[in-house]
Amino acid sequence: MAKVYYNGDVNDGALAGKRVAVIGYGSQGHAHALNLKESGVEVVVGVRKGASFDKAAADGHVVVSVEEAASSADVVMVLLPDEQQQKVYEAEIRHTLSPGKALVFAHGFNIHFHQVQPPKDVDVFLVAPKGPGHLVRRTFTEGAGVPALFAVYQDVSGNARELALAYAKAIGSARAGVLETTFQEETETDLFGEQAVLCGGLTSLVKAGFETLTEAGYQPEVAYFECLHELKLIVDLMYEDGLSGMRYSISDTAQWGDFVSGPRVIDDRVKQSMKEVLADIQNGKFAKEWILENQANRPQFLAINNREGKHQIEQVGEELRKMMPFVKQKSREAVASGAK
Ligand code: NDP
Ligand code: MG
Ligand code: MG
Repeated sequence: MAKVYYNGDVNDGALAGKRVAVIGYGSQGHAHALNLKESGVEVVVGVRKGASFDKAAADGHVVVSVEEAASSADVVMVLLPDEQQQKVYEAEIRHTLSPGKALVFAHGFNIHFHQVQPPKDVDVFLVAPKGPGHLVRRTFTEGAGVPALFAVYQDVSGNARELALAYAKAIGSARAGVLETTFQEETETDLFGEQAVLCGGLTSLVKAGFETLTEAGYQPEVAYFECLHELKLIVDLMYEDGLSGMRYSISDTAQWGDFVSGPRVIDDRVKQSMKEVLADIQNGKFAKEWILENQANRPQFLAINNREGKHQIEQVGEELRKMMPFVKQKSREAVASGAK
């Protein structure tokens, strides 16, 4: 088993007297800034003028430009969208880094794929909470935390690991458990998980099931309930008690169907495709295409997004959800308020 670090394993002193610049005030940024501050850390928020800037100011932070925040801090936590990081780093952060400072990320993409090439004389590490920012914030206020990964890329001070753990503790993650990884492992597994299972795998599975039923002549509304709506109940059970716990709660008929039909749907061909997806992550093909797509102003991303939004499951779902106001919970409210 990997070693898990908790509050008691962490030397708070590593962050003492250090000023942290939180760059960006979106999902992760707002959560880190507020949690750090309430843990007694001196925080300055660096973000461009606009909605995030106003929100950070309204939340009581000292808010300045990215360059000013990075200049004045010992620890610079970059919480900008991954595809913006290289540009903002080159223009506003790179020249502010000097020996003794630490450059920190919540995802390894830009370091691992060489989009950001930090100077050799600063510490570089990541602290990546395994959950969206609104949960990092909400669990902290409830006295708990979201588990996190940490990894050290450059340890110039000899203190980078301690600093990473102290940071993880200050955002509440060491209450839940913190695991050590590498930039490579964090980046590749994060991309694979979201592509093959959590986002890509799941949306494609749901659509394939919905289309199979509607093409066979069943009502789209019924197909929506069976293939999308009920997912949450199943996922909640898996989240709480694993696959066996979920199977314990469903009927024996459903469990037997799971055993005999699940492996027919997600078969060896699907696993072979997953291996190809993983290979494209590992060999840099996915990263290169996504970087180029952004440089071209996202023509393919926008076209696919537009087409996906018009899928029948989206039209049917929109109507059905109007009849079920209870499905809109805190996560949606948090997204609407800019803290997704
Ligand atoms: P968001 O998109 O939620 O927030 C980005 C923030 O950066 C906003 O405040 C935005 O301000 C600001 N910003 C965008 N462009 C610029 C710019 N050019 N100059 C200055 N500020 C800018 O990002 P996330 O919190 O989702 O992601 C941040 C990092 O955290 C990423 O590395 C991501 O991989 C990682 N991460 C995210 C998780 C998540 O669940 N969201 C989970 C774990 C890690 P404005 O309002 O002006 O656009
Ligand atoms: Mg990700
Ligand atoms: Mg059923």
